[in-house]
Amino acid sequence: SKARIFDKENDTKVTFKDVAGLGEAKVEVMEVVDFLKNPQKYSELGGKIPKGALLVGPPGTGKTLLAKAVAGEANVPFFSMSGSDFVEMFVGVGASRVRDLFKQAKDKAPCIVFIDEIDAIGRARSKNNGWSSNDERENTLNQLLTEMDGFGTNAGVIILAATNRADILDKALLRAGRFDRQIQVDLPEIKEREAIFGVHLQKLKLDPALDTAFLAKQTPGFSGADIANVCNEAALIAARNNKAQVEKQDFLDAIDRIIGGLERKNKVYK
Ligand code: ATP
Repeated sequence: SKARIFDKENDTKVTFKDVAGLGEAKVEVMEVVDFLKNPQKYSELGGKIPKGALLVGPPGTGKTLLAKAVAGEANVPFFSMSGSDFVEMFVGVGASRVRDLFKQAKDKAPCIVFIDEIDAIGRARSKNNGWSSNDERENTLNQLLTEMDGFGTNAGVIILAATNRADILDKALLRAGRFDRQIQVDLPEIKEREAIFGVHLQKLKLDPALDTAFLAKQTPGFSGADIANVCNEAALIAARNNKAQVEKQDFLDAIDRIIGGLERKNKVYK
């Protein structure tokens, strides 16, 4: 909602143990955690701490979760906004929101600023087509670039941004000193899906005979968000059938339901 464009979220309790799979991405963001916790270690040797990293991957793969976990592990505030919230803003509003965001972040440094769906404001600037909404998007993007250049590398503000389309981003965003690092966040393979089931099954009262390897095998192409959905849906199906625990059949029914939803979605977008 519009009111949530920028706020400090209180769920910095998220840590790496909540993020299953994503082994390489975790190793890369661990460096960011270390920058936040021990900035002097880097600055004393004359190193410049990067200002931002881009998390790139399909929807629902845990980009937001990973960014929150970085803040949680470093025990710093997490500020977030979504690029898509800026799309229909009045002239001047987007840029001033970005300014406010960075002002607050600098006051609360060290901290993480997370920009979800950065492509909504960060698409390559095209030849002007005369649409004022496009001009406004460019104002917002320009303000973001200005802010990123405006604070020193040792200001303690690290910006993580997420996109599923790094290829359409304005090259200015990817230049050295801005989002010059890209971290790939891909759909989970079978072993990773098993680990993601492991995280989300903890909340459920399960049939002890349930086999997570079997569930991972039944869910090729599912994202972490899809798997979280399957687990929740299975619990609802079991409850509807007045069961005392969630069983294999409930998961199979839930998987069918999620696959049905995914197929409908694909049809709409084709
Ligand atoms: P989007 O691009 O749609 O914003 P995203 O990549 O930011 O998606 P998240 O919002 O982080 O994805 O994921 C949604 C939810 O799915 C998470 O809150 C979590 O419950 C679950 N999830 C996704 N990936 C993982 C994972 N790797 N481990 C555990 N849970 C996950």
